[in-house]
Amino acid sequence: MKIMKIKQVTIEEAFEKSVRNGSPLLYKDSLKGIRGLNEGQIIDVKDKAGKFIGRGYYAIQNKGIGWILTTNQQEAIDFSFFEEKIKAANNRRAALYHDNETTAFRLFNGEGDGIGGFTVDKYDNYLLIQWYSKGIYEYKDWIIKAFDNHVDFKGIYEKKRFDTHGTYVEGDDFTFGEEGQFPIMVKENGMKFAVDLNEGAMTGIFLDQREVRKTIRDKYALGKEVLNTFSYTGAFSVAAALGGSKSTTSVDLANRSRAKTSLNFDYNDISLADQKIVVEDVFHYFKYAVKKQLSFDMVILDPPSFARSKKHTFSAAKDYSNLLKEAISITKQSGIIVASTNCSTFDMKKFKQFIHEAFGKQKDRYEILEEFGLPEDFANIRNLKESNYLKVVFIKKRN
Ligand code: SAH
Repeated sequence: MKIMKIKQVTIEEAFEKSVRNGSPLLYKDSLKGIRGLNEGQIIDVKDKAGKFIGRGYYAIQNKGIGWILTTNQQEAIDFSFFEEKIKAANNRRAALYHDNETTAFRLFNGEGDGIGGFTVDKYDNYLLIQWYSKGIYEYKDWIIKAFDNHVDFKGIYEKKRFDTHGTYVEGDDFTFGEEGQFPIMVKENGMKFAVDLNEGAMTGIFLDQREVRKTIRDKYALGKEVLNTFSYTGAFSVAAALGGSKSTTSVDLANRSRAKTSLNFDYNDISLADQKIVVEDVFHYFKYAVKKQLSFDMVILDPPSFARSKKHTFSAAKDYSNLLKEAISITKQSGIIVASTNCSTFDMKKFKQFIHEAFGKQKDRYEILEEFGLPEDFANIRNLKESNYLKVVFIKKRN
């Protein structure tokens, strides 16, 4: 890694305040003087009068065109800068390291841990790095070296999400150390899940839902008939079954979900007798359930922010309230709906409006029992709404 000469850029006035208020994200169109800059170039961001505001790097990604790394003009962006941030992030996860029942969690959360543009998750003995720009990828050797110096692991896998939608670039994702034999088994609060770090964009489990899975298992599942929609590998169904649910029904469009969900049940010694796995469009399943007069004690909704199936285009920002209406219609009185979204274009306030709208249209009453955002290992910057995407609400349908 060669140290590049720092280039000077000027921030547009409209964007000055957000940086001064502690947001490290350099928004699209916020900088002048970036023509011809290379990805990863270290930049000093100045105001109109030429006064230093912050030092960072230039990189085009789904969020913005770069990140401020320090507001201290004396601080160099070199290997030891990266190493200190990574060491500190690792130390902050001490409680998770000491939890023998949890072997998978987020180790480094981009800007929340001081360097925007990449995240690192620990899956038992393997690390997964997600790169969100070619710019940060320029620093790959330093980043891997710092992890090698401070974290115990066998091997590293990576996902390149370079394009402006943050979409995964297909390829062999093995990158450093020893290769893994997948699936590997990870533990989370004693629950076991299969993980494959070299099979497309997803790994088998979304680590940001750890507290939600625990809550479903420990507080809500006992004796319940549970419907888990957009179920993927059935992680919420596993949590419900381990919490003593009467039955679970997992619905997902993807063929892969059947085998992956069975394997997760298997890992946890859950008998398949009371667990249904349905490979089908959720919207179609809702119609079927209404026709057959099925109803559930608990309905879990965790759709992708955007999805296109043969018959449907679903956008969380536009269609969540309709999705909820369908769920309400097959939830028993006093039943629970777990409504979740990872859509970063609206906040909790707006999400609660969708909930209010849906119950209003269904002419049902409701009570919000609890709410979740990102867990602590998904370290966050309060001033940056883009990085605080997760919203989960436990809602009781009331008569
Ligand atoms: N709730 C899951 C994660 C969901 S990921 C968990 O906790 O692990 C999103 C899933 O939605 C994917 O598995 C995808 O196949 C599925 N999906 C997208 N559109 C769908 C639709 N219309 N009907 C059913 N499943 C759908």
